[in-house]
Amino acid sequence: MAMEALVNGHSSPNRDGNPKSERLQIVNDEKRFTPELSAQIERWGLRDVGFDYNVVAVFGSQSTGKSTLLNRLFGTTFDVMNESNRQQTTKGIWMCRGQGMNVMVMDVEGTDGRERGEDQDFERKSALFSLASSEVLIINLWEHQVGLYQGANMGLLKTVFEVNLGLFGKRTLDVTTGRTLLLFVIRDHLGVTPLSNLSRTLQADVTKIWDSISKPEDLQDRKLEDYFDLAFTTLPHKILTADKFEEGVADLRKRFTDKENPDFVFKPIYHKRIPADGVAHYMEGIWEQVQSNKDLDLPTQQELLAQFRCDEIANVALEQFSIQARSQKRPIEIGNVVDGLGAMMRSWKDQALTQFDREASRYHKGVYHKKRNDLTGQLNSILSPLFLGQLKNIHKSVLIKFKEELRDGVRGDNYNYGEVVSQARERLEKRFQEAVLEVRKVREDSDSEEQWSWREEEELLRAEVEAVATQMRSDETKKMLNQSERNIRKGISDPVELYLTEAKPDMWDKVLTLFQGTLEKAESTYISKAKSFDCTDAENTLALAVLRRRAWLALRSKIDEQIADTALIGKLRARFEDKFRYDENGVPRVWKPGDDIDSAFRQARDDTLELISLYASITPKDPSISFTLPSEPVSSSSDEDEFDFSSTLHVLSPTKAADITTRFRRDADAFFVEAKRSTVSSVAQ
Ligand code: GDP
Ligand code: MG
Repeated sequence: MAMEALVNGHSSPNRDGNPKSERLQIVNDEKRFTPELSAQIERWGLRDVGFDYNVVAVFGSQSTGKSTLLNRLFGTTFDVMNESNRQQTTKGIWMCRGQGMNVMVMDVEGTDGRERGEDQDFERKSALFSLASSEVLIINLWEHQVGLYQGANMGLLKTVFEVNLGLFGKRTLDVTTGRTLLLFVIRDHLGVTPLSNLSRTLQADVTKIWDSISKPEDLQDRKLEDYFDLAFTTLPHKILTADKFEEGVADLRKRFTDKENPDFVFKPIYHKRIPADGVAHYMEGIWEQVQSNKDLDLPTQQELLAQFRCDEIANVALEQFSIQARSQKRPIEIGNVVDGLGAMMRSWKDQALTQFDREASRYHKGVYHKKRNDLTGQLNSILSPLFLGQLKNIHKSVLIKFKEELRDGVRGDNYNYGEVVSQARERLEKRFQEAVLEVRKVREDSDSEEQWSWREEEELLRAEVEAVATQMRSDETKKMLNQSERNIRKGISDPVELYLTEAKPDMWDKVLTLFQGTLEKAESTYISKAKSFDCTDAENTLALAVLRRRAWLALRSKIDEQIADTALIGKLRARFEDKFRYDENGVPRVWKPGDDIDSAFRQARDDTLELISLYASITPKDPSISFTLPSEPVSSSSDEDEFDFSSTLHVLSPTKAADITTRFRRDADAFFVEAKRSTVSSVAQ
């Protein structure tokens, strides 16, 4: 179990069941970084604290009471070397959460490779790692080590300074980040030599070390104080003066917890500005760089971290957002206008961005802004189909309503078509604009106008409304034309029948006059009705031409009916009988022998035969009474046959006239014979 924990870097089972006191080996003795840190930081409850946390690490020779000190100061659970069983501690870096404080504490083991005659690889790497992440580096040493300039601690410090130059060396000095506090804790302080003396000695040694390290050409003038603050403190002997030791620890603890304390160690300038939720990834990246002996460039690391984390944060936000957006996908696809969709979309988007901002804004500004733009683009591209779908559905629904209103509006006879249309159109416009305004709530001020444009849909709608209105208008026109035609038919029917039956010489004058009058009335009624339409002049001209033609054809069919064979024969016979069988006073004639039946017959016959030519063509006596149809074509796409007006003036063809004449003569002859017979029989009686 213990081995497994070490190799895999799992957190150790905690003794009290409290995840906050769990410890984790973040770098094991094979110099591998744990994959568990992120989860552990969450278990420690530090994931969401932003910048409100601190990191401290300890350095020093083995068995100088480092782990003991950390456990006392921070309530951590690092392994302490057993008094009775002094075994070598494994290399590696352990981490614990400080109890009752947002502090990540790192216990760096095995930094004394030189003491053990090992290579200093791990020392170097853990120094780099600690400096890149910690605000405070505790340098732990025995009092008797102070002044031993050549001691192991000094070698360690040399390493720390060198790697620090690599890390922060090039930063401009007026920038206040990148500083680290080196807190020297002098253990087993006997009290004979006061702290001030010890500090002076250490200070001098440290300065000597600084001067001795090889610096790059351009950094020759840099001083230790450009990068580090130094602080010194002592702790009494833990075993010989246990009470004093505890007091000292308690005092020192305050310097880590009490912000009001003048010696408070976690000054903002030491903070490495990595948001807590990115610490794990950041540390892992740092370790990888260190481990592969690549140049550790912190700004690059921060940018990489920002990219990684901003993507992660964006994905979480996007996932939630997608679920929300998906909920309305189906309703839109099946053609519904989703109530309040605009506001809904806007709030999903706001939520996603707020969620993103809350965490991502703590990262590298440039990366954050770029990723935010990317996210906004993704959000918009998910919303766009919903937006366009909603527009399309709005379009459809207002158009349906518009058609309904038109249909209802022109029910019955008592309506003004033009008003019906313009009112329905106004309502449609209003409905559309209101709905568009709602769905456009999705738009943010920073969005481009084209991003959420409804113009195209509006144009489509307008075109369709126009088409519907035109269709309706033409239907209405047809209805009116039919109505007019019916009226004309009714108006001319009886009088035409009468005139054709009377068959006076001015028969056609009367028929045409009547027709003209009826038509004019119908035309003016049509015109006055059409005024309420938005009919164009061309449409009106066309309608009137149609009306005239149909009226004329109605007249012609009435005439045809009246001069159909039997009807015409009937008329001729009636005229003939009238002349032949009745005298001028309308009294029936009784033929007597000696009566001039022959001349009477001839006269009546010839008189009647004249009617045939009268009926044959529509020719008024009075030349001023004439009727012509407009010569221009009624409609270019007219499906009616080509219409030749002048041919419609011929009512009877010559053949037909001849046929009728023959038939009539036969009838007349029969009358004549009958008349002759009647005189013979009267003589015989
Ligand atoms: P580390 O290897 O530096 O982490 O040291 P540990 O904390 O494991 O302690 C090593 C040994 O030193 C243990 O046996 C501790 O009991 C003992 N020890 C811890 N603190 C002190 C101290 O302040 N003074 C003395 N003399 N011994 C201590
Ligand atoms: Mg230890």
